[in-house]
Amino acid sequence: MIKILIIEDEPNMRLGLKDNLEFESYEVESADDGETGLQKILDDNFNLVLLDVMLPKLSGFEVCKAVRKKGLTVPIILLTAKGEEIDKVLGLELGADDYVTKPFSIRELLARIKAVLRRGENFVSSLSSENKIKIGLLQVNFDSYNAFSDDEPVQMSHKEFEILYYLWKHRNRTVSRDDLLQEIWGYEESPTTRTVDNFILKLRQKIEKEPNHPQIILTVHGIGYKLVD
Ligand code: CA
Repeated sequence: MIKILIIEDEPNMRLGLKDNLEFESYEVESADDGETGLQKILDDNFNLVLLDVMLPKLSGFEVCKAVRKKGLTVPIILLTAKGEEIDKVLGLELGADDYVTKPFSIRELLARIKAVLRRGENFVSSLSSENKIKIGLLQVNFDSYNAFSDDEPVQMSHKEFEILYYLWKHRNRTVSRDDLLQEIWGYEESPTTRTVDNFILKLRQKIEKEPNHPQIILTVHGIGYKLVD
């Protein structure tokens, strides 16, 4: 059974979501503040987390950051308020997988949940045959979402793994920013290409000997990037 955690302080929203998701045969747990929510994520094994941004004790961003810092890859969908564009970009950079903007329809949310769960499955199954791969300074295991540098674990978000895997799968070929947006974010209301660039900068910090003079993830001006092997 697919287990979903809802972290939302507004009682009506929390209960409404719980009812709807249970109706769709998901197993649902909930928390009404960031601290309790984070503890539940760490203690249990959820398939997906719905995470409100404005929360008592710890904000959704702080929860997201803490979860990724622990190396947990559980998919996170942020529930953001209308007009907070900055939240979306920041949330995705902190390792959230998707977001919906309040007010949203339950249909829209269910579609996002299914898409995120499906992406996770595809990601895992498409990786099962490949083990540790050396990319620059990194040793990456795409099966277990682990990365090491000189045998020291390296912190990487789910998105960073996905982007790196996509580049690696298309290595020695140019991948456009739009390809990455389509493939990794995969919905109409995409974040900007700037978001892609920011992720590439983060990956270079981990992969390249000299991140300012990249030898592995090259910039193809006006188009995108190329990972050279
Ligand atoms: Ca709230």
